[in-house]
Amino acid sequence: MPIATIDPTTGETVAEFEPHDAAEIDRRIAQSHDAFRQLRSTSFAERAAWMRAAADLMDAEVEETAAILTLEMGKTLAQARAEVRKSATNLRYYAEHAEEFLTGRELDAAAVNASRAYTVYEPLGVVLAVMPWNYPLWQVIRFAAPALMAGNTVLLKHASNVPQAALYLDAIFERGGFPAGSFNTLLIGAREVEVVLRDRRVVAVTLTGSEPAGRSVASIAGSEVKHVVLELGGSDPFLVLPSADLDAAVATAVTARTSNNGQACINAKRFIVHEEVYDAFVERFTAAMAALVVGDPRDDSTDVGPLATSSGRDEVAELVSDALAQGAVATTGGAVPDGPGWFYPPTVVTGVTKAMRLYAEEAFGPVATVFRASSLEEALEIANDTTFGLSSAVWTQDADEERRAIAGLDAGAVFVNGMSISYPQVPFGGTKDSGLGRELSVEGIREFTNAKSVWKA
Ligand code: NAP
Repeated sequence: MPIATIDPTTGETVAEFEPHDAAEIDRRIAQSHDAFRQLRSTSFAERAAWMRAAADLMDAEVEETAAILTLEMGKTLAQARAEVRKSATNLRYYAEHAEEFLTGRELDAAAVNASRAYTVYEPLGVVLAVMPWNYPLWQVIRFAAPALMAGNTVLLKHASNVPQAALYLDAIFERGGFPAGSFNTLLIGAREVEVVLRDRRVVAVTLTGSEPAGRSVASIAGSEVKHVVLELGGSDPFLVLPSADLDAAVATAVTARTSNNGQACINAKRFIVHEEVYDAFVERFTAAMAALVVGDPRDDSTDVGPLATSSGRDEVAELVSDALAQGAVATTGGAVPDGPGWFYPPTVVTGVTKAMRLYAEEAFGPVATVFRASSLEEALEIANDTTFGLSSAVWTQDADEERRAIAGLDAGAVFVNGMSISYPQVPFGGTKDSGLGRELSVEGIREFTNAKSVWKA
């Protein structure tokens, strides 16, 4: 893939960037390695002050940065602004809490024949971050804020289609006051990841992206015995049970499926609806999806912009065409529109069977599948019949059903009467093929630390 800004609204190439050559890659790794020596000896208070300064810059530059996100991957400007603000919030969250999260604990000294025994959390070193384009700022910040506050330095390999976002991030921490090289962007393609990850100066890796990319990076990290965190795909279930507030469930279902133009790992993708409310749900959900305004993401009235890449749209269109050819029904949408840009309409598909790719594969676009279930048990069976296990949602007002659904959903999170959203305060990550490890909250900052035990005679 060329490293380039290609406007998905028009399909036109706006800017191309020369990838870093081997010498520049080496220079940047060396700079990050040197910066680690410096950063690890700074205090939480110093790092927190730089983090807050970076957050202030981000807030002050919200319009310019949001415009970059919209230009490079097509999310609506309103959602791009929200992403910038949320990223700044996460910087402040870790500025505020990192020290508390990384305070070690006293152990039972007498039990281990010591005068004192305790743990401390120390940074690991240079961490490589391989990141996707769908939240060009947030995905990076949710890892980088805790990693830097813990005292690690960061090398970013961003997705090739968001170079301007990558270069913005390259500068933001140094502008906030962090030592030069604390955060470095590598303008490289996916093929160069291996050489960076095998470098002795790089000690760990985090990847957010597709399952094949995750498997590839994890196997390299495994062969190098380097710590790895993976945030991969999802095909999240959204259960609607008879006692649900149906109006609220439908309205939330629409947002849950179409936010970020349907390209979030935690978008609800499979709607599993109890037969008692199935017909009403499908009718109202279809009408609400059909009413969304698809168009230029810079236009305030637009709900859904284009998909980020031409190949991404092709994949979504193929999944839907395959299902329709085998007898599934699109109650709205389902066809690629004419005209420039990589648009795909909000689509609802019913009658999906296991023979269809859409049953098992992640639809990374505004495509919802709706399944009918005759009981909570059957709904859970369908929900868990996937290789993914990222997040999930259940709509019910019955306390017993709620308890059974929380226990029965095989996922990293369950949202009750709501939709999956990431928050700095809430641990985030998946089970099964959706990933390894956790981001955000206290778990997210401890991932890239050495929990060192200290024993004193
Ligand atoms: P992708 O193709 O895997 O790309 C993600 C990043 O990995 C990019 O920087 C990409 O570089 C790089 N990459 C791709 N193949 C690689 C390989 N073999 N070795 C090393 N690096 C590689 O993912 P995507 O299609 O852009 O993003 C969509 C996927 O990400 C979806 O499955 C979505 O669910 C998942 N996602 C998960 C989360 C989560 O938190 N769980 C969040 C967001 C997205 P290039 O751009 O240069 O190819």
